Amino acid sequence: MLKKEYKRILILCTVLVLLCIFAVAFYFQNLIYVSAFQFFEPDISVEKIEVPTEKLSLSEIENDERIEFNQSLMLINTEYKISDSDVFNITEYKNSGVQMNTCMVSAYEDLSYAVLSETGEKLYVSSHFRNKEDQAKLYAESPELATEPGASEHEAGLCLDIYVQYNAGDNFLKTDAGKFVNTKCHEYGFIIRYPHYGYSETGIRFEPWHIRYVGKIHADIIYSNRLTLEEYIFSLEENVFYSVENYIITRQRPEDGCILIPAGFETYTISPDNTGCYIVTACG
Ligand SMILES: [Zn+2]
Repeated sequence: MLKKEYKRILILCTVLVLLCIFAVAFYFQNLIYVSAFQFFEPDISVEKIEVPTEKLSLSEIENDERIEFNQSLMLINTEYKISDSDVFNITEYKNSGVQMNTCMVSAYEDLSYAVLSETGEKLYVSSHFRNKEDQAKLYAESPELATEPGASEHEAGLCLDIYVQYNAGDNFLKTDAGKFVNTKCHEYGFIIRYPHYGYSETGIRFEPWHIRYVGKIHADIIYSNRLTLEEYIFSLEENVFYSVENYIITRQRPEDGCILIPAGFETYTISPDNTGCYIVTACG
């Protein structure tokens, strides 16, 4: 009799333990999906170096044929807001009605093509460029969900909220496309702007659907070092030159309206970082 009772209690306990395991697994499923695919061994080496430089005025930057001047590395958050004088180059993506910053059009084309060919799933965009008025309207409607005007990257057209059919939001991560984007988008110049480990830096919870364009080498460094954009930008010491693969990166604070670029490279991308500096990426 006692043995039977003991057996019942044992079965009951086992069921309870299993239920708890399932509940915890269900709660953390998104993190499990991501962690299973991410091995954050920094596999990219960033070294400080000294290089011969060339001095350029800020007005020369915008007219120099070797230089692509864009806004890909602007930090935009509640502390570093977009100013009324900022003008963004917005373009429509392939007659789709989706509007985005011109600097990321070809990168997004490559990413969406890779997702389709690797997973068979088509990416859709639920939220793209928003002007200040739209952002203000959204914020007025749901201040707990939307970012205040001036603090959203959507106003710069540098990010997209993406999904696949029937799976948006957190469910995006359950799809092959969502897993691909969350682990490979850096290869195309994008980062998951609000990663699951980044809440203390960004103040925004994990958004596996919100991709931000920063350019390939920067995305590689951010991803492989498990950084947020905030941490990355401030980790670049001002006026120091870094060698990364075949690139030189430098974050320059203008002096007398001029910055230094590494001399003798074929192409340069220069973007303001919205903290008063310019990030120069030299390649070739
Ligand atoms: Zn978004």
